[in-house]
Amino acid sequence: MKNRAEELKDIAGKSFDVCVIGGGATGAGCALDAQLRGLRTVMLEAGDFAGATSSAATKIIHGGVRYLEEAIKDVDPKEYHVVVRALHERVRMLNNAPHLTRQLQFLVPGFHWMDVAYLDIGLKIYDWLAGSARIAPSKYLSREETLERMPELKRDGLLGSVEYADGQFDDARYNLALVETFTRAGGNTLNYARVTVFGRDSAGHLSSASVTDQLSGKQFPVQAKVFVNATGPFTDSIRTLATNSLPPRMRLSKGSHILLPVEVFPSEDAMLIPKTDDGRVLFAVPWNGRLLVGTTEQEVSPEDDFFVSREDIDFMLGQLNRYLEHPVQPSQIVSGYAGARPLVSANESQSTEKLARDDVIEIDPASGLISIMGGKWTTHRAMAEDTINAVQKALGLDITECPTRSHVLHGGEGFTSDLWKKLMAAYPISKETAQHLAAKFGTAAWEVMHLTQENRNLAQPILLDSPPIQGEVVYCVREELAATIEDVLARRLGIQFYSWRDAIHAAPRVGELMAQELHWSNDQTKQAIASYVDKINRRLEQAGLQPETFSEASADHVAAS
Ligand SMILES: Cc1cc2nc3c(=O)[nH]c(=O)nc-3n(C[C@H](O)[C@H](O)[C@H](O)COP(=O)(O)OP(=O)(O)OC[C@H]3O[C@@H](n4cnc5c(N)ncnc54)[C@H](O)[C@@H]3O)c2cc1C
Repeated sequence: MKNRAEELKDIAGKSFDVCVIGGGATGAGCALDAQLRGLRTVMLEAGDFAGATSSAATKIIHGGVRYLEEAIKDVDPKEYHVVVRALHERVRMLNNAPHLTRQLQFLVPGFHWMDVAYLDIGLKIYDWLAGSARIAPSKYLSREETLERMPELKRDGLLGSVEYADGQFDDARYNLALVETFTRAGGNTLNYARVTVFGRDSAGHLSSASVTDQLSGKQFPVQAKVFVNATGPFTDSIRTLATNSLPPRMRLSKGSHILLPVEVFPSEDAMLIPKTDDGRVLFAVPWNGRLLVGTTEQEVSPEDDFFVSREDIDFMLGQLNRYLEHPVQPSQIVSGYAGARPLVSANESQSTEKLARDDVIEIDPASGLISIMGGKWTTHRAMAEDTINAVQKALGLDITECPTRSHVLHGGEGFTSDLWKKLMAAYPISKETAQHLAAKFGTAAWEVMHLTQENRNLAQPILLDSPPIQGEVVYCVREELAATIEDVLARRLGIQFYSWRDAIHAAPRVGELMAQELHWSNDQTKQAIASYVDKINRRLEQAGLQPETFSEASADHVAAS
């Protein structure tokens, strides 16, 4: 990928066929599809790629067992269609980025025979709906088989479980792989570039956008024949920027997750708790060396700061602990995150749990803005396919075949599951580092390791006894437009999701490496480290946990070195 200055030069004041606003899953999916169909495309993201909802998912590639239940109860063919489409997209998502995805087995424990029978039938329907896209059949497991797979599951009253298969993925890295694949196909993009105003032609159709570079404060124009609004929770703000009188369509529902040491519930498999007190489901999923637990559901507005509150934690642990032999305490939480589901509604009275995760394409006749609203990660590619069909139509072009159905993403080309062994054979790195690099970067891990030939120190870990190495920071700045410490520690390396406290301790070294690459002054570096540490300590406090002691002296040392 080009660096920020080069991208700015290619974008500012230039004309494109398509301008995609928003660099989450939906926007990156649309940008890649448009560029691969031969449309000259630019994607503008106000924050970081995957900086909003797209790194806040439960990270499951699924048709949606709960939505299937709703579809059956409501006898609603539309909800049914959402599940079937997602089941087919599940396979494509798995195939297109093998380094960032995997099949995962889910066990649903049963404590009443009626529940077990209900689940067994429901999951057989899930299998049947998947048809040729089925990845493994569901089956009943006895109490003994269940406890063998999940030894920390509550024993009292346990009858058995029903097992089914879905997918799991690294949402932030999948988003970045979409962006990198897009730019390698010739597309242009910039993060920290907010669309603030539209310009119009004589017929009132959008013809340009004024963009603010959030890092420098400078403004620049971008011309395009079609504008695609893929701003997820912020969709209504772009719709009304285009046509003030458009009524709001979005309803936002906050969902929180917490991460725990995997030892509290050691298992290769994920657990689905089928009914929480508020009538939803809760997942406890092994992810990235942790147990990921979520999620909650609470209606919010786009201006809110999304964080994991003590109330969210009490709710999730309250539900989870009913299923555990040894209850988990809030003090065991190592990290967490929250985001807002962008749900589409025409009906204000419906609760957000009831809104199907379907997507809607709206073409505003007054401005020509094409908004892609709602959906879920699993269906981002299909949503993009439909959107770019609409773009080609709006441009008066024939609708061409969609190229993304089987387009392997950057890092997935030539990937094999023994990549980490090959990395270890070629470079003096630990097994944990090799596995981490293969899982985060796929075959692009070779490019990361290549940097260590330039400077051997880059093969050193960022934190002692932790897999990520310093070369990753340099790679992420040079190749993935990382511009802040959080861009690196959260979405690109995953340290912030692994442990808030580790992230605080990694910040000075990451800040120093970024300062060298981005020519930050000492003051800028100190400021960047301090504000990152403050933010993460605020997250700890909001979760009711002790903030981490962080010595100002270490930031001083870094800035001076
Ligand atoms: C708690 C939770 C759990 C979920 N779990 C799953 C799951 O397990 N599986 C699944 O399939 N789906 C899941 N989802 C749904 C999925 O995460 C979302 O559907 C998806 O990430 C939405 O992506 P998006 O690109 O539409 O929105 P976002 O990722 O929010 O991206 C929109 C982007 O637009 C940018 N933007 C806004 N205004 C402007 C502007 N003026 N100029 C430029 N850019 C702008 C924002 O900065 C933002 O980055 C979950 C969602 C939540 C909240």
